[in-house]
Formats: sequence, structure tokens, C-alpha cells
Amino acid sequence: MAGILSAIKLREAGFDDFTVYEKADRPGGTWRENRYPGIACDVPSHLYSYSFAPNPDWSHRFAPGSEIQAYFEGVAQRYGVTPFIRFGSEVSRGTFRGGRWQLETKDGRRDEVDAVIAATGVLHHPNVPPIEGLDRFAGALFHSARWDHAVRLDGRRVGIVGTGSTAVQMVSALVDRVARLSLFQRTAQWIMPQENPAYSDSERAAFRRRPELLRSAYADLGTLFHAFSTGLVDADSPQMKAIEHACRTNLEENVRDPVLREKLRPSYRAACKRLVMSPDFYQAIQKPNAEVVTEGIERVEARGVRTRDGRLHELDVLVLATGFRVDRFVRPMQVVGRDGLDLDAVWAQRPSAYLSITVPGFPNFFLLNGPNGPVGNFSLIEVAELQLGYAMALLELLRSGRCREISPSAEATARFEAERSEAARRTIWASGCRSWYLDDRGVPMSWPWTFDRFREEMSAPRLEAFELR
Ligand code: NAP
Repeated sequence: MAGILSAIKLREAGFDDFTVYEKADRPGGTWRENRYPGIACDVPSHLYSYSFAPNPDWSHRFAPGSEIQAYFEGVAQRYGVTPFIRFGSEVSRGTFRGGRWQLETKDGRRDEVDAVIAATGVLHHPNVPPIEGLDRFAGALFHSARWDHAVRLDGRRVGIVGTGSTAVQMVSALVDRVARLSLFQRTAQWIMPQENPAYSDSERAAFRRRPELLRSAYADLGTLFHAFSTGLVDADSPQMKAIEHACRTNLEENVRDPVLREKLRPSYRAACKRLVMSPDFYQAIQKPNAEVVTEGIERVEARGVRTRDGRLHELDVLVLATGFRVDRFVRPMQVVGRDGLDLDAVWAQRPSAYLSITVPGFPNFFLLNGPNGPVGNFSLIEVAELQLGYAMALLELLRSGRCREISPSAEATARFEAERSEAARRTIWASGCRSWYLDDRGVPMSWPWTFDRFREEMSAPRLEAFELR
């Protein structure tokens, strides 16, 4: 998403000597890699689109993953940037030497470039939990982002570990296909009810005929989501109260069995973890062939999952919907900045960056969707567009000859990070739950202010925060 975006915007700005390195043989990032049953985006599709490339043909309010994948491929083609992508080319190392970045790829190529944009994503490297015996399972076992489509599911006994957005979508998609579905829940989730209606032919035709409808859909949804962001950063806001009410009502009204209802009731506030959206998870999990297993996992054995109460849950397929290692960012790529400074060492404790885009000691290096940026129930496309605008303003300083190297000062970065982590402690994400938003100290790794403030900050770099050489 962010690589295609960068290519389009660089070209528009008159840069024509650039390469997009892509380790796989297709573009699409998270939508190429996540192809589990039920995958969709829970940001409305008319907002989860590039601002400059609205799509009249989205089939549903929340389009399925395959449509989103086709959208990205289509945009790359339509904007003529596919030829700029070098497929099958994984960057293993970038070294800043003599004022330029030297890039090495796994297939042995060496390139020298003036600047690097790291558009490598966040939810990227699967988190495989250290559960004993995973290698002893005799059935099929895979992570949700490494789905094995050769494995038959119909009529089989399927186990899912995890209860995040991924698992919830899978449960709804699989329950009517499988013989038994066992959901291994370590922590219950609040579920925000969210219908997903299809667009009719006439609605799509209207979007096609009248582009202003698409523009206003994008703007209206943006306003709605930004108001939501204001709620998240103020745990006592009216928006938060409304979200909590909607989630609680969903649970109370839609789960009949009081024992199951209590199993599914979280012990923390709604939206403390990333809010899970679903129109039908509760209906799906109440089907007679579904079971929520709340007993902890002892180990995996050849025939299934043994829980701590000694029970063996026999399974043919076990899916790890256990999320991602979200502190990796560009890594495992080795990034070596000025004077041999290694990004892995700089980030040894935890990743950070000035405004989540630039890192002291790493000149002409720009991260999109980097550490501590806006995450949550947002469109990361919108986030990347704003960040890229900011990075391109810095690139312009290089192109115009105003400087040859630009990186943030250590002081500005430390000040930003101190203010950010202080504010993050007051957000709903820090209200008492475990989630992928939290760093090693339990501080949310995200933009802790409103989206409007983010947009304002991205509108132009404050050069006093940077060292220009
Ligand atoms: P996730 O939200 O990080 O959830 C991981 C789940 O695995 C949690 O329920 C976690 O339990 C569980 N888990 C991890 N290690 C475990 C262990 N050792 N034993 C038992 N359970 C374990 O991951 P995700 O569902 O893949 O979602 C990641 C993010 O991707 C989402 O938050 C969202 O931003 C994005 N996403 C979006 C959509 C969408 O648009 N609809 C769909 C999928 C993903 P605990 O809660 O106890 O830690």
C-alpha cells in the first residue's frame, strides 16, 4: 500500500529515478499475505482507499480482502508504477556511506541511492507463540497470515488460537463449513456490532456517474473516524461511552446462554485493545458445533490441544490467529546509519522515531507507518499519505540542493518521545489490558493525540527539529 503510494507520488512530483523493492512476486502487502477465510477490512472501503483513487465498485461497505488486493494491483497498473517495482527483491541491508545509501538485496544486487523510504508495514511478521508441542501436531497447523489453501476444512475439526480481529472474522466464515470449531480464548474481546451491507448495482452506478459522491463518502467517513480518534485519546469522552454502550448491549442482547455470555465478557474497557468489529460473531460462536475454550493451553499434542484441565481437544486443523511481532518495522533488514550506527541497536529497547518518520543518525531515511504513529481503527492509507507528504517536503530540501543530508536532532526526538509517551499513558489503550499496542513498559506505541493534530503536524516539517548538512 505505502510502496505503491510512494511510487505514484514520487512520479507526480517529477522524480523518475526510483525503485520499489518488493520481496514477493506481487504487490499488496498485508492483503497479499493475509488470505484467511472471512478476511475483510473493518475500515469502510470508501475510506480505506487512496484519497486520489476512489473506487466506485466496492461490493460491500467493508470489502473482502481479495477485492482490496485487486484494488491495489489495479491502482499500481493504472498509475503506471508497476514497472518501477522490482519483484522478488528483498532488501537485506542498507548502509549510509559517503552521503548515500547503499542497498543490498538477498539476490545479490547492490544499488546506491540518495534516499530511502521504508514502506515495510507494521502487521507483517507473524507472532508464533511459544506453545509447547506445536511441532508434534499431526494435523495441519499454520498462522493466519500463512494460510495453507491446500488444506481441506469442510467437515473437519478446526481449532483457532486467539480472539483478535483475525480470529473473529475466521469464526464467522468457518463455523458453517466445519464439523467442530474450537476457539481457544485467552482473553475475551469486546465486539462492536457492525453491519456489512452490499452496495446495489444502482448505488455503484451512481458512484461511477457522479465522482462527487465518492469524494463526499471519503470526506464524511473521514470526519466520523477522526471523531472516533478523539474519543480514544480521552478515555472519558462521550464517544468512548457510546462505544462501551454499543459493545455491552451487543453482548447482553445477542448471547443467550448466561454461562457463555460471562465467558465472552471482557474484564477491561472497550477499545482498550483494538476494537473488534463484527456483524455476526456472537451468532456464529453460539452455533451447536462451536465452543469457546477458556481453559489455558497446556500443550499441543499429535491429536490436538491439551488444556490445563487435562482435556484433549481433538483437531484436524489448528490455526494460530496470534497476531504479529509489531516492534519489527523494517527489520530484519539491517539498517546502518551515520558512523556505523545500527538501527537494531538504537531500537534494542524499543523502536522510536521523530514523528514516527525519521530517526536521528539515519539521514535521508523515511519510515511510513513507522513506530508510534496513528494505529487503531483508522485507515492506514490516510496515515501513510500524510506521512509521505511530510517526507516528500524533506526530500524536496535534498532535491533543491538546500542540504545533502537531513535527519532529526536527538533533542527534538527525545522531547517528542517524552511528550508522546506521557500523553499515551492517558489514552484508553492504557486503561488496563494486554494488547499489541503496548510496549515493553506497557505504554501504548501510538499517536496519543487527535487525528486533527496529526494532520496539522504533518502539514509541514518544522525545520528547527532537523539537522541539515
Ligand atoms: P491480535 O489482535 O494481536 O490478536 C492475537 C490474539 O492471539 C489475541 O487474542 C491473543 O490473546 C492471542 N494470543 C497470542 N498469543 C497467545 C498465546 N500464547 N496463547 C493464547 N492466545 C494467544 O492479532 P490479529 O487478530 O491478527 O489482529 C492484529 C491486527 O490486525 C488487528 O488489531 C487489526 O489492527 C488488524 N486486523 C484488522 C482486520 C480488519 O480490518 N478486520 C482483520 C484482521 C486484523 P490475548 O488477547 O490474551 O493477548
